[in-house]
Amino acid sequence: MKKTIRDYDLSNKKVLIRCDFNVPMKDGVITDDYRIQSSLPTIQYALDHGAKVILLSHLGRIKEESDKAKNDLKPVAVRLSELLNQEVLFIPETRGKELEDAIAHMNEKDVILIQNTRYEDLDGKKESKNDPELGRYWASLGDLYINDAFGTCHREHASNVGIASHLPSGIGFLVEKEIENIEQVVANPERPFTVILGGAKVSDKIKVIENLVTKADHILIGGGMAYTFLKSLGYEIGTSLLDTESIEFCKEMLKQYPDKIVLPTDHYVSDSTEGVGTLKKVEETEPTDMGLDIGDQTISQFTDLIKQSHTVIWNGPVGLFENPSFQKGTIALCEAMKQVEGKTVVGGGDTASAVQSLGYQSYFTHISTGGGASLELLEGKQLPGITCISEK
Ligand code: AMP
Repeated sequence: MKKTIRDYDLSNKKVLIRCDFNVPMKDGVITDDYRIQSSLPTIQYALDHGAKVILLSHLGRIKEESDKAKNDLKPVAVRLSELLNQEVLFIPETRGKELEDAIAHMNEKDVILIQNTRYEDLDGKKESKNDPELGRYWASLGDLYINDAFGTCHREHASNVGIASHLPSGIGFLVEKEIENIEQVVANPERPFTVILGGAKVSDKIKVIENLVTKADHILIGGGMAYTFLKSLGYEIGTSLLDTESIEFCKEMLKQYPDKIVLPTDHYVSDSTEGVGTLKKVEETEPTDMGLDIGDQTISQFTDLIKQSHTVIWNGPVGLFENPSFQKGTIALCEAMKQVEGKTVVGGGDTASAVQSLGYQSYFTHISTGGGASLELLEGKQLPGITCISEK
């Protein structure tokens, strides 16, 4: 078991907390502060226990000098200050005298936010390649390291693995919640356990399928992914998404697990992603049809299995939900999830955006804050940002 922030005496300690403030921004304005809100419990806990809180986060990617201005973390400091109802001192540098002086003058319950850790990427990708000197330097600024940035736990960066190699460390509440609701739920699900997989490409989710097919009772496949499975059975799929290199994999999975994997029997098709849908059985698909949402019979079959389940994990929307004409399936599954007596978990990325944009977020047990990281947990992998944390 990994240590958590609760395992340390924080009083008067300089606590470095790696947060995930990688929020969407437009012209310097934060368009969705979900990630900032999600980091509050850990920051507030540290403040309530008398810590001096030093926050680090990345924002976007910094490949050239001109990327800096649009990925400046200052607006996050302003929003965080409003949410915490106290001053958050923003240091516009990732290292140097201004930062060191500010930390030296901190009192208990003060908060500092350091500039975007990826500003260090301009000089030889020091953050993203876990430059040992950078990790050591950031560690020298604190007494204790807490990782609460789930979204980067699948990466080995200076601001997570680098710092953790030099300080006593723990996970924050957000990372703890992600582990409990994804890793531990997959390891020990209450049955029946159903997995819904959708989204665009099979190839992105091969390892998820391989890991979960052995653990789940049902795997419901929808979205663009379903067409490579249907193609492997010989169906006409028209102009629907096809992942040619995954056809053999799909064929093999269907051969090995014919009773577990459930495919759509009907769908809404159109001649373009901008069009409106026509309901067809999958065997009626024509060469000009593009399948863009699951059909009514499939909705009914999927919702029956979902409602009977005691654990449901969902990764990938089952239709092109960005176009309202193809939201029906994803909305119907959200409705079914409301009725599950047990845990309902949504993987990060597009599924989380779909559930949030459709207004269903409060009905789920857990919506992951990390796309790639949640996918890697579903693949059964150990995440370097968690592995590096001190054991209890
Ligand atoms: P992923 O990141 O793999 O979960 O893919 C999410 C994307 O898949 C979303 O943008 C959806 O609009 C898209 N998607 C879902 N179903 C389909 C479909 N039938 N055809 C094309 N795109 C789809």
